[in-house]
Amino acid sequence: MTEKSWDEQRFQDIEYNLKAVREALARAAEDSGRTAADIELMAVTKTVEERFINHAIDCGVTLIGENRVQELLRKKPNLRLAGVRKNLIGHLQTNKVAQIVGEVDMIESVDSLKVAREIGKQSLKKGVVTDVLVEVNIGLEASKTGLSPEETPERIAEMAEIAGLHICGLMSVPPICEDRAKLCKYFENMYNMYVDIGAKKIDNVSMNVLSMGMSGDFAEAVRAGSNHVRVGSRIFGPRVY
Ligand SMILES: *Cc1c(COP(=O)(O)O)cnc(C)c1O
Repeated sequence: MTEKSWDEQRFQDIEYNLKAVREALARAAEDSGRTAADIELMAVTKTVEERFINHAIDCGVTLIGENRVQELLRKKPNLRLAGVRKNLIGHLQTNKVAQIVGEVDMIESVDSLKVAREIGKQSLKKGVVTDVLVEVNIGLEASKTGLSPEETPERIAEMAEIAGLHICGLMSVPPICEDRAKLCKYFENMYNMYVDIGAKKIDNVSMNVLSMGMSGDFAEAVRAGSNHVRVGSRIFGPRVY
């Protein structure tokens, strides 16, 4: 195929995939007594070139997620972002905080008190309040970032004291599980933690966003109570690193 027709094919695939994901999301929402409007769909755009991201935006995507600060800042000027929010979803190093604060709508991957303090500090400097999610390592995996479930409530209470940031909810990437029942248990544990922390009514903490569910498991996540799914490869096709 020529390069042109390869692009055309990919544009079509993205449109088709988005439609299929939206339909599957709507079914999962209904299974949990909600509607599609209750669940936010994020298109995860890491490694995807700008023309394909812009096509997804033309097809109605209003929220995108990137996992690397540099990649996000590099692509941003080339994206048609009117009416589109962009969130950081990958691990954030303290020394990159100054670059990203004010450039995104939300940081979903706050995984330490140290990075939370730096986000607060840089936000005050820029005169903004940064919305954040606290990332929970629900499977206690050594390979993953995120707070342990055990320490999460206490750390959130500490982060709530930091000026310049607002905690909006929780984010998690559960372990890869062949066993669907086990996977659902992780999602349910996250949902329970989200509800319990919300019930504490901590000042400066609003548990409104529960970000969980990716290409392979968003339906299970939504049935367990997620209201914000992060879908990459099922929209844009497999990533080649
Ligand atoms: C890459 C990524 C996703 C999307 O993964 P897919 O399996 O391609 O849907 C979601 N969340 C995070 C944090 C990611 O890094």
